[in-house]
Amino acid sequence: MISVFLGPPGSGKGTQAKKFSAEKGVPQLSTGDMLRQAISAGTALGRSAQEFMSRGALVPDEVVIGLIRERTQRPDCQGGFILDGFPRTIPQATALDALLSEISREVSAAILFEIQDSALVARLTGRRTCVTCGAMYHLLSMPPRKTGVCDQCGGELIQRDDDREDVIRKRLAVYHQQTAPLVEFYRQRGMLSPVDASASPDAVYREVKSKLAVDTQP
Ligand code: AMP
Repeated sequence: MISVFLGPPGSGKGTQAKKFSAEKGVPQLSTGDMLRQAISAGTALGRSAQEFMSRGALVPDEVVIGLIRERTQRPDCQGGFILDGFPRTIPQATALDALLSEISREVSAAILFEIQDSALVARLTGRRTCVTCGAMYHLLSMPPRKTGVCDQCGGELIQRDDDREDVIRKRLAVYHQQTAPLVEFYRQRGMLSPVDASASPDAVYREVKSKLAVDTQP
């Protein structure tokens, strides 16, 4: 199973991918998480990515394609994986097809997280992430038991720099301009499975699992 989770920022791709990955043991490959790790580690790649990310722009295609090429070659990806936040442009999608065809594989499904922009700004400004384990919370819909502290590991909860309202609006514009064309790309290939991402996290998870069931059954 090689699934692409596609949708605007804040649509729940990351939350759902993490949950599915934990339950089914399928690796979740998030280019956003990989880039944030590079920033924390202070690598040259991280420093150049930060400049794009802090203003809500996309990191250049060749950078993220390189990250995915390297990550998909690791042994844990042999049984399949979920791509969360990649591809985000048509050139990334065609590069993905090319690198998968080198190993005689292909994308099996693209799950589209459908939701109105108006719901996303509120979702993203309330989002908090654990600096230690990456667990995600929301001040209104999924608050931690203790303010600012992760329920799972006791780590500090922070707001991502790019979850500020001005940057969020830029990220949404970038999504509509550069990523939305992928909806048609996967629809034409008969791979697109839309889910209603405005529903509760549990309801979305049930829908995601039912769409992926065909791929994960032995
Ligand atoms: P995310 O955590 O998926 O919302 O990504 C956060 C930021 O990382 C994005 O706003 C981009 O700046 C960058 N990023 C993540 N994935 C990609 C990608 N596939 N292509 C280009 N930039 C990306």
